[in-house]
Amino acid sequence: MSLVVRGVLWIGLFLGVAVAPLVFAVIGFSGPGRGFATEFSAALGFVGLALMGLEFALVARFRAVAAPFGTDALVQFHREMGLVGLGFVLVHVAISAPWDLVVRPFAEDTPARVRWALLSTIALLALVASSLWRKRLRLSYEVWHALHAVLAVVVIVAALMHALLVDHYLDAAWKRALWIVMSAAFLTLLVWVRIGKPLTLRRKPWTVERVTPERGRTTTLTLRADGHPGFRFAPGQYAWFAIGRSPFSLTKHPFSLSSSGEAAGVVEVSIKALGDFTSTVADLDVGTRAYLDGPHGVFSPDLYEGPGFCLVAGGVGVTPMISILRAFADRDDRRPVVALIANRSWDEVTFREELERLDARPDVQVVHALDEPPPGWTGETGRVTADMLRRHLPPGYERWQFFVCGAGPMMDAMEEALVALGVAPARIHTERFNWV
Ligand SMILES: Cc1cc2nc3c(=O)[nH]c(=O)nc-3n(C[C@H](O)[C@H](O)[C@H](O)COP(=O)(O)OP(=O)(O)OC[C@H]3O[C@@H](n4cnc5c(N)ncnc54)[C@H](O)[C@@H]3O)c2cc1C
Repeated sequence: MSLVVRGVLWIGLFLGVAVAPLVFAVIGFSGPGRGFATEFSAALGFVGLALMGLEFALVARFRAVAAPFGTDALVQFHREMGLVGLGFVLVHVAISAPWDLVVRPFAEDTPARVRWALLSTIALLALVASSLWRKRLRLSYEVWHALHAVLAVVVIVAALMHALLVDHYLDAAWKRALWIVMSAAFLTLLVWVRIGKPLTLRRKPWTVERVTPERGRTTTLTLRADGHPGFRFAPGQYAWFAIGRSPFSLTKHPFSLSSSGEAAGVVEVSIKALGDFTSTVADLDVGTRAYLDGPHGVFSPDLYEGPGFCLVAGGVGVTPMISILRAFADRDDRRPVVALIANRSWDEVTFREELERLDARPDVQVVHALDEPPPGWTGETGRVTADMLRRHLPPGYERWQFFVCGAGPMMDAMEEALVALGVAPARIHTERFNWV
C-alpha cells in the first residue's frame, strides 16, 4: 500500500476515534435534553477526552503510524492537538462548571465528579504550560519528560472518572465499558513505550566498540550488536539510544545513524556535544552497554525514487547525509548527488576529510558553505540560499529528491527557497533535530 493511502487511512482512523464518543453517546440514548449549551459542552468534553487519549498514540513510536508522515510531523501534530484538546476542555469547563462548587473543592457538598474534573483540568493546564514554557520554567528535558508522562495519566484517569460519575450519556453499561476499554487502550500505549518496549530492548544489548573524535565537537560511537544480529536500516534513519543506562530509563536520546547501513550487526552514530548528555559522549569507555530502539524515520532516499538527490546540511545535520553518501558509495549507486554542507568554520566541518574523498566520486558533488571562511577561501560563504542552490544544481533538478537537516531557521528558509526554485513540496524531506 502506498504511503499516501496509508496516511489517508491513519487520518481517517484518527478522526473516527476522535468523534466516536459522540456516536456512542447518542446510540440508544433516551434521557431528557438539557438545552443546546449543555449538550454542546458535553460534546466538547467527550471529543476533548478522546483527543487527549489519542495524544498517547501519536508519540508511541509506532513505525507504521510514523512512516507516512515522519516522526517530527507527528510530534508537531501531537503539540497542536494538545492545544486543540485543551481548547475543547476549557470551553466545556467554562460552559458547564458549577463555579460555586469548583471554588470550594474540598467542601462536603462538592460532588466527586466536580473534584475529578478540577483535577483533570489543572493537570492538563500544568501539562500544556510545562511543555510550552519548559525552558522559561528552567525544567531540564529529563524532568519535563517525567512530569509530562505523569500529568498525562492524571488527565486521562481523572477525566474518565468525571465522565463516569456525571453518568448522563454513559447510562448504559456497555457505554461505560467501552469508555473504560478505550481509556485503558490509550494508557496501555504508555505502558508499552515505558515497559513493554524496554523489555524487548533488554534482550538485545549493544556494546560501544570504538569512540572516535571528529571535527566540530563531535564524537562517533561504533556500536556492535551483542548476541543478536542487530538491525538493518535505510541511510538517513535514526534510533533512540540509552547509552550506559538501563533500557527502562525514561529519557532516551534520538540520533541519526551515521554509518551506511550496509554492514550487519554494527552501527555508528556521531554526536555533537551540545548539552548535558551529549557533552559526556567523548568520555564514554569502550565496552559501555547501550540499548537501541530503531530504526525509525522516513528521511531516506531509499523511500523516495528520484533521478538525483540534493542533500542540504547545517552543522551536525550532516550525520544523516554522511550515512546516505556512504550507502551510495558502498552500493555503487551512480545516481547524482549534490551535497551542500554549511558550517561556521572550515575547522569545524565534521567528516571534512571523508567528504573530500566522497567528492572525488564522479557522481557526487560536495559544496561547503562557511560563515567564517579562512583567508583565501574561494568557495561559498554565508547562509545557504536559493541562489546558492541554483548555482550548483544541474538542469532537471526539479525532479530530484531534496533532503534538508539543520537548525530550525535553516530548515524553514530551505523549504521556502526550494519551493521558490520550483521543487514540489512532496520532494522536500526534512529532519528536525529540535523537536522539543
Ligand atoms: C531525529 C533526530 C536525530 C538526531 N540526530 C542527531 C545526531 O545524529 N547527532 C547529534 O549530535 N544530535 C542529534 N539529534 C539531537 C540530539 O538528540 C539532542 O541534541 C540530544 O538529545 C540532546 O541531549 P543533551 O542531554 O545533551 O541535551 P540537553 O542539555 O538535555 O538539552 C539540549 C536540548 O536538546 C533537546 N533534547 C534533550 N534531550 C532530548 C531527548 N532525549 N530527545 C529529544 N530532544 C532532546 C532539548 O530540546 C534540549 O533543550 C537528533 C535529534 C533528532 C530528533
